[in-house]
This record gives sequence, C-alpha cells and structure tokens, in this order.
Amino acid sequence: MCGIVGYTGNKQAYPIVIKGLQRLEYRGYDSAGIALLGSSLKIYKKKGKVSALEKDVIGKDLEGNTGIGHTRWATHGEPNDANAHPHQSQSGRLAMIHNGIIENYASIKQELLLKDYHFTSDTDTEVLLNFIEDVQYNNECSLEEAIRIALKRVVGAYCILLISKDEPETIYAARKGSPLVIGVGDGEYFLASDASPIIEYTKEVIYVNDFEMAIVRPGELILKNLGNEKQTPFITKLDMELAAIEKGGFEHFMLKEIYDQPDTVFDCQRGRLLPETGQIIMSGIDNNMDMLINAPRIIIVACGTSWHAGLIAEYWIEELCRIPVEVEYASEFRYRNPVINKGDVIIAISQSGETADTLVALENVKKQGAFIFGIVNVVGSSIARMSHAGAYTHAGPEIGVASTKAFTAQLTVLMMMALKIGYAKKTIAYERYYSLMVELVAVPNKIRQIIKNVAGIQRIAKKYKDANDFLFLGRGYNFPIALEGALKLKEVSYIHAEGYPAAEMKHGPIALVDETLPVVFVATRDTYYQKIVSNVQEIKARKGKIIAVVAEGDDVITHIANDVIAIPDADELIGPLLNVIPLQLLSYYVGIEKGLDVDKPRNLAKSVTVE
Ligand code: GLU
Repeated sequence: MCGIVGYTGNKQAYPIVIKGLQRLEYRGYDSAGIALLGSSLKIYKKKGKVSALEKDVIGKDLEGNTGIGHTRWATHGEPNDANAHPHQSQSGRLAMIHNGIIENYASIKQELLLKDYHFTSDTDTEVLLNFIEDVQYNNECSLEEAIRIALKRVVGAYCILLISKDEPETIYAARKGSPLVIGVGDGEYFLASDASPIIEYTKEVIYVNDFEMAIVRPGELILKNLGNEKQTPFITKLDMELAAIEKGGFEHFMLKEIYDQPDTVFDCQRGRLLPETGQIIMSGIDNNMDMLINAPRIIIVACGTSWHAGLIAEYWIEELCRIPVEVEYASEFRYRNPVINKGDVIIAISQSGETADTLVALENVKKQGAFIFGIVNVVGSSIARMSHAGAYTHAGPEIGVASTKAFTAQLTVLMMMALKIGYAKKTIAYERYYSLMVELVAVPNKIRQIIKNVAGIQRIAKKYKDANDFLFLGRGYNFPIALEGALKLKEVSYIHAEGYPAAEMKHGPIALVDETLPVVFVATRDTYYQKIVSNVQEIKARKGKIIAVVAEGDDVITHIANDVIAIPDADELIGPLLNVIPLQLLSYYVGIEKGLDVDKPRNLAKSVTVE
C-alpha cells in the first residue's frame, strides 16, 4: 500500500524515480508525486496515476541527482493534488513522502497550529513533516536528531523518505511497520517499498528494520536505530529477475499471473515434493516437527485471499493431521484478547509479508510465547523475518492487485505441510500420503488444460457482465473457493457478489434468487456431489441462472446448468487448487468486458500496510 522510491547518486534522479513509481503503482494509485533536489528543490504532484504526473512535468525543470517519489493510497484526506506527496515543510526547506498512518497526528497538529503552523493538506504526513521541522528549531539540533526525536513521539506506522535543501545529496529514511529496501549500487543508492524498482540496477539490497533510520548520500550509507546507535547493514542478494515484474506480452498483470500458475505451482513444489522417494522436504517443518505434531491447536491468521487459503487449510489439516484449526481475520484477532495455550502454533499467511494487521497480530502472540510459522511470498519481508520458521511460496512478484498466483502457491505450501505433518503424526497412511503427492504433482498440467479452454469462460463473462449481483456456492473444500470467487469478482468487476456454503444459502441468500441472478456453483466430483446437485435444483426451481464448474464427464449438473465450465478431475482434497482457476478467469473477463482497469481496481491497493 503506497509506493515509495528514492535515488541519490551521480545520475539524474528523475528517470529512475519515475520508472520506480511505475513499477510500484500497484501499491496505490490515488496520486503520484516527485521531489527533485539539485541546484534547487522542485516538487511536482498530481491526482491520479503516474501517467498523469508524467504528462504534468513535460517541459518542467527536472534537474537533480537526488529524488524521492510517491504513489499514494489515501488514508487521511481525499485523493487530490494538495494531499498528494511529497509534502513540503512550512519553511519550504524540507520535503517528505510517507507510507502509513500517524495515529496521533491530530494532537500533534493542534500543538503546531498553536505555534502558527499552516497546513496545505489534510494529511497526517504534512503534520509529521512540520513536527520534525519544529523539533529541529526548538532543539537547535541536526535534522537527523530531530527526525529521531519526532519519530519517538509518533504512534502508528510509517516509512518516510525526507530530503532537505541544506543537504542536496542526502536522503533520510526511517521505518516502523511499513517496508523499506535499499539497493546498493556503485556509489549510488536506490530506496523503495519493495525490490521491483531496484532490480534493474542492482541485486544487492539491505532490508531496513523497524525503528531503524538510514542516512544515504553518494558513497555513504549510515544505518542507526532510533537510540542513535550504529547498526551494521546486512546486504542480501536479490533472487529475482527483471522479466518477473514485466507483463511479458500480456495485456494485464492479472492475466499474466493467472497464466503463470502452472509454473508457479511447479516452482513452489520444486525440490520439496518428491514422490519418487516418498519425501516432502521443507526445512521449516522438518526442524520443528516435534512441536508441529504435538500442537494442541493451530491458529491461522491472515487477511483477504490469504484468509481463504487458510480456510481451505483448516479442512485439510483437520482431515489429514487431526489437529484442531481456527482461522482468524488478522484485523479482528489483533484486537481481541485471544487465548493462546502452551504449544499452540500460529500460521501466518501473507503474499507481501507486510500486511499490517497480520504483522501486529503476530507481534502480540509472539509476546505470549506462541510459535509462528510464516507462509509468505516476498523473500526478506517483515513477516518472513519475524516468524520462527516458515516456507516461502516462490510465486515470484505478484503485481495484479487481485491475488491469483500467490493464492495457489499458498495452497500448495499448505497442502505439502498438511501431508508432511499428517504422515509424521501417522494420521494418514502412506498410500493416501503418496497418492495426494502424486495428485499435487499433476496440478500444473491440469491448470494448463483449464487455461486452454478460456474461450468458453470468455463467452460466459460476456453473457453475464451486466448482472447486478452474483452468488457463489460451494460445499466442503470448495466453500472457501466460493468465497474466493466472489471476492475476485467484486475486486475487478465491482459487481456485488456473495460466497456462501451451498446448503447455508437456504438460510437467507436464496431470497435473492430470481431469473436475473447468476449463481456460480463449484460442483466438481467430491463427497458432497449429490448434495450439491440438490442445491443446484433448488436454484433452478427459482429460475436462477446457473453457471457450474464441474469435472470433465459430468452428466448430471451439466444438463441442469445454463452454462458449464468443465475442468480436469482431481482428488477432492486437491480440487480447490484447480477450481479457483476458472473463477479467476471469469472475474478477469467480466472486468475486461466492463472496460475496467483490472490491474488497478478502484479503492484497492496491493500489500495492505495500513490497518
Ligand atoms: N497517510 C498518508 C496519506 O493519507 C499516506 C498514505 C499512504 O501510505 O499512501 O497521505
């Protein structure tokens, strides 16, 4: 959420910063802005996408070897030019960009108003900036010291980049709760919310930790904590290629990422899932197996699509490992007073590894002594670093705001985990363990087959694009897939959609059914098949339009439904990994039919780093 980028070195900053903003735009697109520092300080900012800013700066002075840029996801103040970042301090000396929320901004603002500070925006960011300036005047200290003092008073989350006219080559950076990566070039530094703007220039990066501050200027990087103690920067090598963050000929990242899934699911299994030797190798589990098989309870903490992956894992782990599982929304879990017992294991699922609510929820349970197992996609992210153990999903950068390939990679990790623990715990026999391994290995090819039949899904999207509502129904392992199908459709088409357990719909949603309502059934061959046939009939009797995802060769629902998407057969436990693919494609094409920007749906942003 919100993209931050900065550069200082011997090159012109503008082209690097603007390209960085394009790469980070998926994190927020309410407005974009840039501050350039050279012989003077120049600030340009504009409501809307980065392209609007690019148009706006044509013919303007873009000189400067130091620059910072921001793409906003508004929290305080509507998306307009005035609220766009960078903000400038009252004296005009400082410029700053910020990702996050300053929760106590109102009281600080009151103090500053009494001192005759004026504000040109409604943002919490401008308050923090003027506060830093005020602290410096009052304490007659260095800017560095003023930033430290001010940040110690701040409640909330931030990643800031700050520049000053007095030091034209220096960028001050600090973070708490919002991500910051620094790329180390040849006497130059690249700062960003994630590695995507950096990868083109260097693979050597430093992940800044919470409560740390970096002072960078050409040829020098100083890392300190807020107590003014020097920290040793730890340089990590990025394992990412430029091609992974480009569209590769697809019209949208979302479509590319849906099509990536045969490869990403395979990458996630690579070196781990070895049916030929009967092994699943995951060091995060192997090293903690005793604790995992003896866990009295597993609590899965996640948000959004990751929460849906958690729901499926609940079914899997209870079935295969006989360990009770609870699945929690991180935003709720963090604010209640959950009972954590000795031995409880927390599984945290997050694509970005930076999800603010999940992070804080984990901090809370960590203090209570819980063991945290992280399942994240972004290597080196905050959740990855704060977990006791974990498994990366290896799906590569996910840029489409609506999560697709990260979800199937999460499911792959969770299934491998459940199999591994269940087998070690002897709650599943070798034959079942082995057959599910083989089924999992077959998933990439089956996804490939589903994608080949995209034309049928496109036709269905065209047919129902003008519906006002959709209902998604599924049972058992496919109930969470119904939720995920509804979420995808809402995200990229803005059509109201609800996901429900197919039997539960009789307790309310069935009242919505009439001849205008498309009802999507996830009805592949499983234990509940006969039951879901009855649910399909119930909708048919009320004239709802039935779109059914069925297994190839289905000859019952196929004859009842208005539209059918047939997909390869699979073991019912593995089914969710396949059944979600047509729903992702359906959402994508409904969004396209409606002429929407599916990669940047309104009001949303990738990587929710504010609570
Ligand atoms: N709270 C700040 C604002 O509303 C920053 C939001 C962001 O992270 O983009 O401008």
